[in-house]
Amino acid sequence: MKAQPKASHFVDGAWLEDEAGATVEVLYPGTGEVIARLHEATPGVIEAALASAARAQAEWAALRPVERGRVLARAAAIIRERGEALARLETLDTGKPIQETRVADWPSGADALEYFAGLAPTVTGETIPLGTDMVYTIRTALGVCLGLGAWNYPSQIACWKSAPALAMGNAMVFKPSELTPLGALELAAIYVEAGLPPGLFNVVQGRGAVGGALVADPRVAKVSLTGSVPTGRRVYQAAAAGIRHVTMELGGKSPLIVFDDASLEDAVGAAMLGNFYSAGQVCSNGTRVFVQKGLKARFLARLAERAAAIRLGDPLDEGVQMGPLVSAAQAEKVRGFIERARAEGARLVTGGGPEGARPGGWFVAPTVFADVSDGMEIAREEVFGPVMAVLDFETEEEVVARANASAFGLAAGVFTRDLARAHRVIARLEAGTCWINAYNLTPVEAPFGGVKASGVGRENGRAAIEHYSQVKSVYLGLGPVDSPY
Ligand code: NDP
Repeated sequence: MKAQPKASHFVDGAWLEDEAGATVEVLYPGTGEVIARLHEATPGVIEAALASAARAQAEWAALRPVERGRVLARAAAIIRERGEALARLETLDTGKPIQETRVADWPSGADALEYFAGLAPTVTGETIPLGTDMVYTIRTALGVCLGLGAWNYPSQIACWKSAPALAMGNAMVFKPSELTPLGALELAAIYVEAGLPPGLFNVVQGRGAVGGALVADPRVAKVSLTGSVPTGRRVYQAAAAGIRHVTMELGGKSPLIVFDDASLEDAVGAAMLGNFYSAGQVCSNGTRVFVQKGLKARFLARLAERAAAIRLGDPLDEGVQMGPLVSAAQAEKVRGFIERARAEGARLVTGGGPEGARPGGWFVAPTVFADVSDGMEIAREEVFGPVMAVLDFETEEEVVARANASAFGLAAGVFTRDLARAHRVIARLEAGTCWINAYNLTPVEAPFGGVKASGVGRENGRAAIEHYSQVKSVYLGLGPVDSPY
């Protein structure tokens, strides 16, 4: 199996190679075989990417927003036409099942391109009357934006960041995770095919050091990172040194609260979606599932039954529902969490091993722990694998306090048939993205992001516009100048 791109980087409207950069081997997580060999960006590649972005940006910003939107809409149409090939590439890059990548990854990216294509021309300023004088405001581009992507939704992340950036007249230099470098390159080529002028969306490969060099460059006006909290802290600090704008989409340990009166089937289904989709490698997962005592026994029984029926295997097999983790290191990390949870006294309800997996890949079976207490590592730390922790609770007051007792605040969910309680509880939960009787749905129309250590800023929705533009305010003097001198 091969998925070798034409070159490692895409800069100034063309594929670019520099073999002097350290080699990055891209592995298919389904088997561990090498599917592509790329090179990290050298200082020359980084310079070319930033210089071309800076050069192209002003002219792009001077276009009418509807003209910028037209390019994004064309790119979205190309993505949809090539849906099957792109889904396959995403599966090779990430190891996620083809049944997911067909409906979730690139399609969600195309949604973002369509949404911001339509939104761009609607962005207007204010006029502020001041008697005879007035002030008007304009939303202007920031300049060159830097996108740093995680490996779990590589193409979706590239689209979610580039679409609002480009719609608002910015250029973007994007660095994917070195584990999943292929989708963003495809996106860059598609943008050019759709008519995006060279330099406006450049992709450079590399590990953290390449990201670090980009963040430190004075031409960068904004940094948008999707990644872990420790990386977020480092990148935020580096961005602060240059007073750059930031969006930080970081990790979570989100609560999913199930009250006794919830629909059992829906709550179990949502808990599974919120822990096992993409083999659990989703930042907003509801990995602390609080179940009220009256429902606990039935919830766990049904969950064990449904979780055991999940089909693991070759991600390219259409019937497979769960693939491997993205890398051997990630699988090792997740297995370590499972071992320590057992040692701490959490009760293993199902999973725990690599059952049902084919050899060679980095599989972990869907795993559920019950009788988890708040102090256990499995209830505090982000696992980023298919591991659910079920905790019991008795009262609303108690569960709200326990749900909020976390450094993270990315997402939260509540299942109950009592609507008043649902809104009351959601209002008190410290999380940026919440669901009532649903979980992990992230349509582009809705702002997405976290509070507390889970991040700063929002992607998607109208809110994203504010994070890829700034307000210029213009005072218009219409009378004589009143000067005391
Ligand atoms: P990392 O934090 O390790 O990396 C994120 C990106 O930042 C990668 O491209 C990485 O490059 C790059 N990077 C690392 N160090 C630096 C640095 N010093 N300067 C600039 N760039 C740097 O995250 P993962 O890729 O491991 O992704 C998993 C994490 O992402 C999870 O914790 C998850 O919660 C979070 N996440 C958050 C989401 C959200 O929207 N809130 C969504 C999805 C994931 P490289 O990998 O090449 O080192």
